[in-house]
Amino acid sequence: MSERPAIEFIDLKAQRQRIGKAMDEAILKVVHDGNYILGEQVAQFEAGLASFCGAKHAIAVANGTDALILVLEALGIGPGDAVICPSFTFAATAEVVAWMGATPIFAEIDEATYNLDPSAIAAAIETARKHELTPKALISVDLFGQACDYEPIEALCERNGLVLIADSAQGYGARYKGRVAGGIGAFATTSFFPAKPLGCYGDGGAILTNSDEHAELLRSLRFHGKGSYKYDNVRVGVNSRLDTIQAAVLIEKLKVFAEEIEKRQIVAQRYTAALKDLVTTPYVMPDCVSTWAQYTIRVDADRRDAFQEALKAKGVPTTVYYPKPLHLQTAYRHFPVAGNGLPISERVAREVVSLPMHPYLDEETQDYIIAAVREALALSAAAA
Ligand SMILES: *Cc1c(COP(=O)(O)O)cnc(C)c1O
Repeated sequence: MSERPAIEFIDLKAQRQRIGKAMDEAILKVVHDGNYILGEQVAQFEAGLASFCGAKHAIAVANGTDALILVLEALGIGPGDAVICPSFTFAATAEVVAWMGATPIFAEIDEATYNLDPSAIAAAIETARKHELTPKALISVDLFGQACDYEPIEALCERNGLVLIADSAQGYGARYKGRVAGGIGAFATTSFFPAKPLGCYGDGGAILTNSDEHAELLRSLRFHGKGSYKYDNVRVGVNSRLDTIQAAVLIEKLKVFAEEIEKRQIVAQRYTAALKDLVTTPYVMPDCVSTWAQYTIRVDADRRDAFQEALKAKGVPTTVYYPKPLHLQTAYRHFPVAGNGLPISERVAREVVSLPMHPYLDEETQDYIIAAVREALALSAAAA
């Protein structure tokens, strides 16, 4: 067993073997050219990113959290406003709402997809009104790489005057009934954190929108509220730009991204075929393709620790995304919860565990992981 190279949870080195040379050359070109801030690669990458998902504009920013904050800023969302979002997500989704002085209203997820349950939106609107807040927007999250069920969500947002902001940090590039995540929602945001399906070599993020007016506003906000040129400040903004070096890396990664999404399907299908009779494997909605940011299974809550320990002993890394829903976290537990609590979010958080997943996971390594999962399940059953 000691001869086996360590199994990576997300193997970025494998991708380097394939396109590392091109990426290194692209980085060196930026170094030599010296256009470190908003060099031509940034605009070139923005055009590629927008066209990949069918959005009109992409605005590259410093990270995925800033992408969300700048959208809220562009919409003028602040104190007295409510923004509906799931609780079973990465903290940034709700953090940005609280950071702007607005109030996140946590809504329940669908137990099969782990994404916002469209039927929970009405209760969230009611909760906002009960707290004398104005419901302004909804942030949906394409968790683990699967797009939300956008048709009913769009209809409900439209009917209730909510701006739909898709947090596609994990799901950019996922397919939903003929559309591509990133191009869904009045605004979509994504993150290029290295471990995301489309990641760079540091922090990065982007906003996608079809609105010309908002795209221009967002370009100004990310650059100190600039007007016609750099030292013309027409509004209060921030410094949130994607570095030219990161754009150069992302241009190379975007070239193989569609193919990497295909490769992830094969890995996911092999896991599901081998594990579906043993554990709850991920459910993908019909006519949809996940980017598989995570391959997440569910095991009994009281067996999860032992299961992870047993896999670790076999050299198989696992991670729990996310162990505690946000409405139970110290920073967020004073914010309103929609309806009669979030029992599904709480249960799922106790049961989920994610297995190694990346496009370059070879069959032999995957078979080793699958065998280890089977053994770990048997061991954890005996221990429970
Ligand atoms: C990663 C992530 C973010 C934040 O992205 P950063 O680039 O790390 O700021 C926001 N939302 C979700 C769902 C994420 O997974």
